[in-house]
Amino acid sequence: MKKRLVLLTPGPTPVPPEALELMSQPIFHHRTPQYQAIFGRVSQELKKIFVTKNNVYTLTSSGTGAMEASVVNFLSPGDKVIVAHAGKFGERWVQLAKQYGMTVLEIKAEYGRAVAAETIAETLKKNHDIKAVYTTLCETSTGVCYDIQLIAQATASSDAILIVDAISGLGADRMPQDEWGVDVVVSGSQKALMLPPGLAFLSVSDKAKKKMAEAKCPRYYYDLRLYEKALTSSDTPFTPALTLVLALEATLKILLTNGLEAHLNDTAQLAEATRAGVKALGLSFFAKERPSNGLTSIEVPAGVDGSKLVKIMRDEKGVTMAGGQGSMKGQIFRMAHMGFIGQEDLRIGFSVLTETLNALGYRCDAQKVLDAFNDVAGSKKVKQ
Ligand SMILES: *Cc1c(COP(=O)(O)O)cnc(C)c1O
Repeated sequence: MKKRLVLLTPGPTPVPPEALELMSQPIFHHRTPQYQAIFGRVSQELKKIFVTKNNVYTLTSSGTGAMEASVVNFLSPGDKVIVAHAGKFGERWVQLAKQYGMTVLEIKAEYGRAVAAETIAETLKKNHDIKAVYTTLCETSTGVCYDIQLIAQATASSDAILIVDAISGLGADRMPQDEWGVDVVVSGSQKALMLPPGLAFLSVSDKAKKKMAEAKCPRYYYDLRLYEKALTSSDTPFTPALTLVLALEATLKILLTNGLEAHLNDTAQLAEATRAGVKALGLSFFAKERPSNGLTSIEVPAGVDGSKLVKIMRDEKGVTMAGGQGSMKGQIFRMAHMGFIGQEDLRIGFSVLTETLNALGYRCDAQKVLDAFNDVAGSKKVKQ
């Protein structure tokens, strides 16, 4: 019998069968009307996920490639930027900006907390030479979703542009780009967008486009001006990951079946049901405020070896959850409920989790946990 494999990590996430099937088609050439028709449609539909009128560029890279693109396209070496961070992925912005010679003002919060929008606003008022504010929608390492709407109010009244890593957040946590005034949104394929790893997406406001024209950082593969130009003929400057683009058309269809809002509400409901399950387990949340709807981060109970917990579930029971990164290793584990992950996956996840916790000496009642999960998952009341 084939082993049960349930993927509950916050990237990669499970890929729907329709998308898997499209990826097994014979390869055809991309400089063709056949491909351009597909890429043209996909590029339009992506705007509905970003909730923007801006073009959305599709890059062949993991999410970090689009993060790098959003440093080199908008800045010149020596520019002053704010990075607001409270987790491993936010720290990546610091490393990237420093690598390109930027002067970085860090606004930090503790892991498990959200960054303070007020501090960003004050810093912008005191420093008129700040070119950009870099932050994160869903900080996947801690499971916290930052208040991007409030941060965007601060950048809107300054010269700085707001650049948000929404690699895991887009399609799970609500962030209408144009309505909130976010200048650059970065995303990736393997999280809430339900695809395998390999594509990254980027959408750029007019305010950011002006900075793009002045930026002096060297750039070649990630020169977004090339992507903008190619889009006018539904094309990309370099060979696209054609297979993934085919699959993207299928996942966008699923995400937009009843509109983005309906999908976000379903995800919010799964998140709330998961949190109810975790409470019934008697465990504590690692996110102390603003938990993301894409994943739940949970503290490993005292006396249990966190690395062993994740390893046993994965290697012996076929359920993969994510452990902690950096200093959080062994201290927390993370359960995703974004994208194509559904109620049934989470029920299996909870039953394997209770079984394993009991085996490791932490007493908990599987039925109580499932009842708590089902109570919320089955109701139709949750609104994001
Ligand atoms: C997954 C993730 C990344 C990294 O993306 P890669 O695709 O691994 O390059 C960056 N930021 C956040 C918030 C993520 O969740």
